[in-house]
Order: sequence, then C-alpha cells, then structure tokens
Amino acid sequence: MSMFCRILRVQKGTALRIIGRSGTPEKAEGGRLRSMPLILRRRNETVIIDVHTHLFPAKIAEAALRKMQGNSHTALYSDGTEAGLCACEARAGVDLAIAQPVATNPEKVSHLNDFVLEINGRDAGSRVRSFGAMHPACRDWERELERLKMAGVPGIKLHPPYTGVDLDDPRSIAVLRKCRELDLMVLIHSGRDVGLPGAEEALPIRVRRALDAVGPMKLIAGHMGGWGCWEEVLELLPDTGCYLDTAFALGTMTPAPDGHAWRAEDLRLLRAEAFCELIARFGADRVLFGTDSPWADPEEEIRKIKGLPLQEAEVRRILGDNMAGLLAGRVNAECWRLPGPAAWQAPAPET
Ligand SMILES: [Zn+2]
Repeated sequence: MSMFCRILRVQKGTALRIIGRSGTPEKAEGGRLRSMPLILRRRNETVIIDVHTHLFPAKIAEAALRKMQGNSHTALYSDGTEAGLCACEARAGVDLAIAQPVATNPEKVSHLNDFVLEINGRDAGSRVRSFGAMHPACRDWERELERLKMAGVPGIKLHPPYTGVDLDDPRSIAVLRKCRELDLMVLIHSGRDVGLPGAEEALPIRVRRALDAVGPMKLIAGHMGGWGCWEEVLELLPDTGCYLDTAFALGTMTPAPDGHAWRAEDLRLLRAEAFCELIARFGADRVLFGTDSPWADPEEEIRKIKGLPLQEAEVRRILGDNMAGLLAGRVNAECWRLPGPAAWQAPAPET
C-alpha cells in the first residue's frame, strides 16, 4: 500500500498522523476539515525508528552471517535479508528501520551503494531504508559521497575496525569533512568489536580526535559511543556534540548455540544505571534507538528501553523523535515514512 503520511492539525491541541486513506479530505469554509474519510493514528503513539540495522542481498545473507557469527559467537534474530529485517521490525512496531551497510572492501563501495539506492527506491510501504556505504580507502570516495547526496541518501556508515582504517586517519578525516560539507550524517561503529578482538580503529579517543579535526557535524557514535569503552565515552565525548545509538549496549549478549567459550561475565554489556548515566550526560536529545539487527530482537530492545527509569518524553525522543528530527529536510518524508515536521517542532499533545 502506498503510504500517505503527513500531519494535520485538525483542532487545537490534537495532531493526527495519517497512515492510510480511503479518500481525500474535503475542506469546509475557513479551511476546517468537514469530512475526513481517513485511517488515522493519533500522533501521541510513539514513532519508532531503528537507526542501526544490517541487511544483506538474499544471495549472500546466509554465508555472510555464518562468517560473522563464527567470529562473534552471538545469537541471531533474523536471517539478515531485507524481508527478514522488515518482518522482525514490523512485529516490533518499528516504523522505519535504517540499514547501515559495512564496506569491507574499497573496490566494492560503488556496487554496495547501487544496492543501497535499490532499497531506498522501494515503495513507501516498505519500512526499510539505508544509509550509504563508504570505505576511506575507496578511490572514488568523493564522487561516491556526491552521488549519495544527489540521490537523497541522508548519511553514510563507517566501520573503522572492518575497514582497518583508524577514524582519526587523514583518509577518514577527509571523508568526514566532505560529509560535513555535504550535510551527510555519519554513523560509525564506535569502540571495540565483539567479532574483532583487539581492534582499536574506533576507540573513543580517535572519535574525539576526528571530531576535533573536523568540527561540528552530525556524527552518530554507535553502541552508546564506544562498545566496551564506556568509561572513555563519558570522559571524552559528551562535549563533542556527537549522537549515540543504543545498539548492542544494554543488558547482556546472548551467546550463539555454537560451543562458544563465553563466560557469564564476558556477556555483560551496560547495566541500566550506567546506560542511564550516559543518557543523562549526553542528554536524551542525543540518543537514538538502534538494535544492530539481526544481532538483537527489536521487540526485546524496545521493551528494554521502555523499562529504563526515564521520563516518557525522553523514551519517545530516543525511540524515534530525535532521528525523525535529524532526517527531516534531509530525506523525502513520505518515502522515509516520517511524520510531518509539526510532530517534532511542536510539543506533542498529551491528549
Ligand atoms: Zn552494527
């Protein structure tokens, strides 16, 4: 079904989000709506955007995930295909899932971005969209970023441990500078990596140095700013203006049923108190909901966020409104399933 999605202020204090329609609204005198044969959803239902997901072309998904799971020894919650991601996000009530493609080979960036544009060209009924792929050693990196920008892609993913290029390497900094110039967001894998022990390409100190070199930009440091390095995140990143995503950072990891050698203490991620301390230091406005699907179950992750000792308005911002605000003006709102700008510019009505 083609999505028809915008905000109408039909009466004072009430904003309604249209999620489908069976006809066209008719206007009476004075611009007031006389009849509205529409399927409506009240705006005070939380918009949920999962900013950090992964998907693979159907042909290679199984092999890619088997290889990655061989390194991480953690559980999988979908088959890693676009259909699998769409299904588990739909079950969880997620409105929009954003894939973050990881370019491990500089030669394949352009090819990967063809796939990104294919995903973003889907009918607005699909709840999956994608950031662009980038590798700082890509020969055509500048032209590739311009191509993404021209195509309406709002940002790129950088995964320093998988590219082997430090985030504060001059090549990474050049890419970040260009993204700043083009107003592209950058979501980075930040911190250590469960599948690549010893990787240091995206430690919080490198995030700090890169941002000091580039200046203010829309950078999202994945995994609450630095997976497995949360002390350093608190020490080094709160005043950088970067955003955090919540992916794969709260609670415990679930081991894969593969004869792994995990000890219970190794599976621990952030406890609720430490997680909330990060939110308090950065501010709930700078925290974005992400799952790292297929490595987590969106339904369970939403439940965990809702279970934190946070105010309802903070939960709403984290689950979707913050990212909706970041995407506004950077993407085609209907295609990216966003509510109209009134939804986040005006305080949401509590009716
Ligand atoms: Zn990820």
